[in-house]
Amino acid sequence: MKMPTPPIEFGTELNKVRSRLQSKARSIPDSFVKLLEQKCEKVSSDSEQLAQAGRDWWPLALHWSLEGEVPAMPQIVASPKNTKQVADVLKACTEAEVPVTAFGGRSGVCGSSVPILGGVALDMGLMEGLVDLDTDSMIAKFLPGTYGPDVEIALRKSGYTLGHWPQSIAISTVGGWLACRGAGQYSTRYGKIDDMVLGLEVVLANGQIIKTGNDAPKNSAGPDLTQLFVGSEGTLGIITQGTFRIHPVPQVERRVAFGFQSFAEGMDACRRILRRGATPCVLRLYDEVETKRNFDVDNSNLLIVLDEGDEIITDASMAVVEQECSSAKVMDVELVAKWLEHRNDTSALQTLTKLGIVVDTIEIAAKWSALEDIRKQVISKLNSIEGNLNASVHQSHSYTSGACLYFTFAGNAPDGCEDRGQWNTNFYKQSWQRVMEATLELGGTISHHHGIGLLRSPFMKSEMGEGALKAFADIKSVLDPNGILNPGKLGLTSNLGVFRDIFSDDSDG
Ligand SMILES: Cc1cc2nc3c(=O)[nH]c(=O)nc-3n(C[C@H](O)[C@H](O)[C@H](O)COP(=O)(O)OP(=O)(O)OC[C@H]3O[C@@H](n4cnc5c(N)ncnc54)[C@H](O)[C@@H]3O)c2cc1C
Repeated sequence: MKMPTPPIEFGTELNKVRSRLQSKARSIPDSFVKLLEQKCEKVSSDSEQLAQAGRDWWPLALHWSLEGEVPAMPQIVASPKNTKQVADVLKACTEAEVPVTAFGGRSGVCGSSVPILGGVALDMGLMEGLVDLDTDSMIAKFLPGTYGPDVEIALRKSGYTLGHWPQSIAISTVGGWLACRGAGQYSTRYGKIDDMVLGLEVVLANGQIIKTGNDAPKNSAGPDLTQLFVGSEGTLGIITQGTFRIHPVPQVERRVAFGFQSFAEGMDACRRILRRGATPCVLRLYDEVETKRNFDVDNSNLLIVLDEGDEIITDASMAVVEQECSSAKVMDVELVAKWLEHRNDTSALQTLTKLGIVVDTIEIAAKWSALEDIRKQVISKLNSIEGNLNASVHQSHSYTSGACLYFTFAGNAPDGCEDRGQWNTNFYKQSWQRVMEATLELGGTISHHHGIGLLRSPFMKSEMGEGALKAFADIKSVLDPNGILNPGKLGLTSNLGVFRDIFSDDSDG
């Protein structure tokens, strides 16, 4: 079994790590721990496991880790080995009103796997592997704790690929991809995980096991319950299996790169490419700042394009790309290789955090007609925050109707700052608040693929609207009447405990 990769070291001994945001949580009696030990493969209250299960890769919390804190610790970590054990754990937790927060690779960047009200951290890591492969129908079933590289190894043995390549592929799992509605870097051809999934096995809070979808390519048999659970971040049920569309391993690969004078021109070329029906796997457009930083090219907005698949279709797709980019400068194709070499590198975050620099990325999405205004507003708002060192953007996933913009911001406390921790949190809060508000005002959505977690929860009412959020809460209250599943996330309230929200709590520092 593969363990989650810790995001950064702790600045204290493991048994001294404290919870930062959790102010009041129910304690689990010893009798309940004993009950779980009978029902579940492994139950642990080892201090290292509890500390690690108290955090994910949320960049602000990496600074807290260096100070010996995590957002919030569970009281125990339970590792079931099969669906029946998941069902037994959930049933027991519902009866005892004990919170349960699932985790896979803990690579989330918004605190979604943080057990904010304590209770049980449910480790899905023992449930891993390929369950079934139907090569005629090109369908594969995987257990939720399977890590990205193992998905590809299992499929490639038979000549197939899922085509899901998040930057975090090595540190994330099938269950986490589904629960956060993730996107890989090749999504313009293969789609997001929500396009790839055909059906699920899910355990509800009362222990009932349900299946959604029936492996059919499409159906009209009532509402799509698969998509109800996809993106629900473990708040509605625990995913114990996923069924996916897969693809033959590509015959050919083609690469090309262009330099645009402005980001808007580059975006418009992407819009026209998609409009004509071409879907090159990778269509990534970097603004001048990121072009310089990542590729060492001056005064250009670099578009890198990569496609793969059937030779005829790939060549046709690249022909459309070449036509629509004919006004741009043709750049060295080695720039695509440079991107490929570094695309799964996850080390930059730790390096900058250790230097005391606050850095994070914010991915939003919007229709084409709104994107340029959002880009300008967000960059200008980020630049206007005192201490900002960087405000930059690239466009990473394109559709016929719009695209995802992926902003990066960084800041550093001024020399002589007496309380760097407080400064960091304030700078971080301001940056996120401004980007979320500008995106919502201009008609975008607050997340394209990282999900909501704790970080974006306060913006869910504005994102969904009061009525839709209430409808979601009503669904949750039927599926999870005691509110045990990942409480405190997705803008939902909880009566199981109290925690601090970094946006409304001015005392946080
Ligand atoms: C450097 C870096 C790069 C990244 N790049 C990308 C990227 O390119 N694309 C992208 O989409 N994301 C990216 N991410 C974010 C993250 O990797 C994804 O959100 C990923 O899908 C999380 O998977 P995980 O297994 O780590 O889930 P976790 O972080 O463990 O959990 C995430 C959420 O899923 C829930 N969950 C986990 N398993 C289950 C289950 N079986 N049933 C129900 N709920 C469950 C958890 O409760 C939690 O709410 C990146 C993260 C980092 C640190």
